Amino acid sequence: MTTYTAPLKDMQFVLNEVLQISKYSNLPGFADASEDVVSAILEEGAKMASNVLHPINHSGDKEGCTRHEDGSVTTPKGFKEAYEIYKQGGWQGLSFDPEYGGQGLPYILAVAVSEMVSAANMAFGMYPGLARGAADAIHAHGTDEQKQKYLPNMIAGEWGGTMNLTEPHCGTDLGLLKSKAVPQGDGSYKISGQKIFISAGEHDLTENIIHLVLARIEGAPEGVKGISLFIVPKFLVNEDGSLGERNGVSCGSIEEKMGIHANSTCVLNYDEATGWLLGEENKGLRAMFTMMNEARLGVGLQGMAISEVAYQNGAAYAKDRLQGRALTGPAEPEKPADPIIVHPDVRRMLMDHRAFTEGARAWMYWSALYGDLHTKAEDEATRQKADDYMGLMTPILKSYLTEKGYWHATNAQQVLGGHGYIQEWGMEQFVRDARIAMIYEGANGIQALDLVGRKLMKDGGRAWQTFFAEVDEFIADNQGNEELKPFLDGLALAKGRALEATQWMGANAMANFNNAGASSMDYLCLFALTALSYAWAQSAKAALEKKDSGDDFYKNKLITGKYFVDRIIPETASHLDKVKSGAEAMMALPAEAF
Ligand SMILES: Cc1cc2nc3c(=O)[nH]c(=O)nc-3n(C[C@H](O)[C@H](O)[C@H](O)COP(=O)(O)OP(=O)(O)OC[C@H]3O[C@@H](n4cnc5c(N)ncnc54)[C@H](O)[C@@H]3O)c2cc1C
Repeated sequence: MTTYTAPLKDMQFVLNEVLQISKYSNLPGFADASEDVVSAILEEGAKMASNVLHPINHSGDKEGCTRHEDGSVTTPKGFKEAYEIYKQGGWQGLSFDPEYGGQGLPYILAVAVSEMVSAANMAFGMYPGLARGAADAIHAHGTDEQKQKYLPNMIAGEWGGTMNLTEPHCGTDLGLLKSKAVPQGDGSYKISGQKIFISAGEHDLTENIIHLVLARIEGAPEGVKGISLFIVPKFLVNEDGSLGERNGVSCGSIEEKMGIHANSTCVLNYDEATGWLLGEENKGLRAMFTMMNEARLGVGLQGMAISEVAYQNGAAYAKDRLQGRALTGPAEPEKPADPIIVHPDVRRMLMDHRAFTEGARAWMYWSALYGDLHTKAEDEATRQKADDYMGLMTPILKSYLTEKGYWHATNAQQVLGGHGYIQEWGMEQFVRDARIAMIYEGANGIQALDLVGRKLMKDGGRAWQTFFAEVDEFIADNQGNEELKPFLDGLALAKGRALEATQWMGANAMANFNNAGASSMDYLCLFALTALSYAWAQSAKAALEKKDSGDDFYKNKLITGKYFVDRIIPETASHLDKVKSGAEAMMALPAEAF
């Protein structure tokens, strides 16, 4: 059976030594996040993750959710009790606006807590995760009345939340959406239609669920320009805040799926359900994007989190399992065989895994810090830079961290050999759970198209130019630091290749849009590796300052970082070559030949 121990030391290293969040005490909420407070919060979160959430991860997967005849859904044994602990701990409101009952702490801290929750039990984490995303969308686009009505209970964890985009005939292409909304003349609408694959769509963890639903108001234009967003509560809410009658939304079935069995993935039928417009008419996608962008970061985080827990279990097994002898002679001659961690190929899998996960954590938290700067910085220039950064990095984080999260979950499974394939060991669950993150919240290929089609050239390419300039400045500022040189050289190499790929895109994508599509995923990976190289260079710089402290953590950080430079950065060359090969070979075969 698997275990999970939150990597508190590494989390604190990133927060306090790499990003030095104490420098931001002028921002709302940061002054309350002293090093001591951060430590206390992370330690409490770690206890909940290890002692409450992880123990029901495997059992929740085996049992799954159950739909009853009346359409109600029960979560697996132990989930209700665990949710109560989560709710009572105030975790849902950690970084939310205090006006609605939140604690107003930095978003970066909420991301660190979410990492632990997702690593311990990804299926569980989706229930509060979706509610938080829905609350953010209401906070950003709701009227004062809507905010007062829904947010306090959502933030207290009393009410859940969902996002409803997908319909049977409409996934990526939301312009095909058919669900309809008929105005009632009193400010409300009757919503009808069917939504599929709705995560946390029906369950027994909360007394109410606030569904955010995309639908087309009668007479609205075709395509994405005619889509509006609606708040549709499972139970209508009375004037005094108490729960009223049951609304016309019901769970028709729950999907039998590959993983995250403990999260209810529902077909939701809307049958003249009462709803209220959230944001402006026909601008629903824009409002939903608040939720989708947050969810995309959350999904990237899921990829990284699963990678962490899979690594921990793969590494523990490799130190324990005795098979064969080290190539250089027995490492533990007194035993019948050496532990498999002596074998370079097992090391390759574990080091690839570790170098990715530690780098990804630094990159993800640094992005979350930009999330804070985006909403809280005093000056417009900083807010704009942060907004540019988030726009550019969101599709890259979502896609790359989930691709690699899945890949490393299978690597960790491989470390266990045949035992990794057997359910009892728990490793195959990580593989199954991690797989969905590459698909939902916009399939990864669509993220790559978003990057090259929209984000790259937005505002004349300001976002990528600012990012590359920041990297150049970091390299220039640290010239002369001989111990950091390998990291700076690696970063310069990755960035140079990313720049060359960006220029190739500029020269070739407009002339033939298929070039942009064909090269988009490799371009995204190349950009991700550049961001990771930067994250590693910053981490190495911080670790070098403590290298003589006698604490092995810093020594090991530098060894892992050097592995990233030697073994992972070279992947940038192959991505660049593939970017530059364009669409020709990819599009040559006629469709009927497939
Ligand atoms: C477990 C689970 C939970 C989910 N939770 C939710 C939820 O809570 N709310 C919700 O609304 N939805 C949810 N979804 C739906 C999910 O977001 C969609 O499945 C996803 O967006 C892809 O849509 P699709 O399945 O229709 O695939 P399609 O859109 O049919 O895509 C199929 C393939 O074609 C590719 N493709 C499609 N169009 C293009 C294009 N223009 N260019 C290049 N490639 C393209 C895609 O990348 C993909 O690989 C969930 C799905 C699952 C399985």
